[in-house]
Amino acid sequence: MVPTRRPRHKRLLAAAVPALYGAAVALSLAVASPALAQPFDGQRDAQPESATLAVVGGLLIDGHEGPPLPGGIVLVDGDRIVAAGSRETLAVPDGAEILDATGMTIMPGLIDVHVHLDILGHSDYQHWHGSHRPNYAAIMEVSARQLLLNGVTTAVDLAGNPDALVATRERVESGAIPGPRIVASMGWITHWTDDQVQRHHRRTHTINVRTVEEARTAARTAIAQGAGILKVHTGLTQAQLQAISTEAERSGLRVTGHVGDRDDLLMRIRSGQDGIEHLYLSAGDSPTIHPDIIQGLVDQQTWVVPTMIQTMVQGLSAEWPDRRDNRRARVLTPPDLWADIRRSIENPRRFGYFGGGLRASRFQAMGARLRQLRDAGVRLLVGTDAGTPLNFHTDATWQEMDLMVGFGFPPMEVLVTATRRNAEYLGLGDELGSLTPGKLADIIVVDGNPLLSMRDLRNVVAVVKDGRVYKRPDAEER
Ligand SMILES: [Zn+2]
Repeated sequence: MVPTRRPRHKRLLAAAVPALYGAAVALSLAVASPALAQPFDGQRDAQPESATLAVVGGLLIDGHEGPPLPGGIVLVDGDRIVAAGSRETLAVPDGAEILDATGMTIMPGLIDVHVHLDILGHSDYQHWHGSHRPNYAAIMEVSARQLLLNGVTTAVDLAGNPDALVATRERVESGAIPGPRIVASMGWITHWTDDQVQRHHRRTHTINVRTVEEARTAARTAIAQGAGILKVHTGLTQAQLQAISTEAERSGLRVTGHVGDRDDLLMRIRSGQDGIEHLYLSAGDSPTIHPDIIQGLVDQQTWVVPTMIQTMVQGLSAEWPDRRDNRRARVLTPPDLWADIRRSIENPRRFGYFGGGLRASRFQAMGARLRQLRDAGVRLLVGTDAGTPLNFHTDATWQEMDLMVGFGFPPMEVLVTATRRNAEYLGLGDELGSLTPGKLADIIVVDGNPLLSMRDLRNVVAVVKDGRVYKRPDAEER
């Protein structure tokens, strides 16, 4: 089902954030030293009389930064969670379907706040969109399945064909096809020249504006099409951005998007753009983000979606072309589409975006920028740009999370970022992001323990969304 979005003023959402960081650090100590562990969440959920589904027996990470609980149980009734606890505090009501998670980890479904459902890792944008434009709905179905079966229960599409997105979302919501809950920007809003628009592979869903009034109309159009977030691209003026932000805020939606140079970035932050996509932040390969930018992000409480995995993939692919034989993506892609994807990346060097090269300094700089943002208190999210060249939906989200751990973030903080904080950013914090009674039952079971190794998230063996089981521990797709 579609969760109810409560329009809230964006600044109110900031309150939980400093506490979240502090708790995450404390928890990483608790995990390392059992003597420091606190009682589970400070209270026990009441025993419900009935349940339709019980996820039983695994290490429970509930999304509240409390210490994980061994022998966890999550009880679901219909599409909602009714209790989370342990075998010592909860019993499985008669009649509940049991999902055995013994020896594994139970946690909230992942949320990825930047994907592209209309592409599957193909490396030639012009060829892909030129060839497959009539097939977007079929391709989105493949992306949706790849995401859900790998643990992403909510995905944010940042610029796709509105008709195909609406059709895909309806099929997912009706249960006709497996897929994550889809929040979509529909198109994206730009202020480009006609030539720029015509040359762009996403020209059919680029809403190009010239005036403030056109910007306002573009925002209303996307919202009328069913947008759950607005995406802006480059070229927009301050007045245009403010008009878009005003329309978005009226509907309780975020505005996120790309940025240009430093002045453009600062203008966007001040104009009310809620999210900044990608970690370039006008810093190039420099390890340091300009203090004015940091200050602006802190003052305006702007969210940043680093999409580091996209940068990593583009830097690595020419040197490590084996990625083009990714087994997990191949297994979950129809053979004809996979053959096309595979052909597109025979020679990655012919694409400019694969030219970055595997330079250690580039990735060290990326990590340094990320830590600089975190240390300043900037609110970071987990989004991946999944679907872009060689950035497969099957792997992008856990790989982005693994990079965060590699750059020094405590694993629990990363898990909470990809679940509860992403939900708060989307205005869905009351419905998603933790295993809390009353919330929608989006639950995954991981064969392993992501607090010890984030890479264990590649082993999502069970997926529950809205209380319905989409993948069981004995399923073949891994
Ligand atoms: Zn993108």
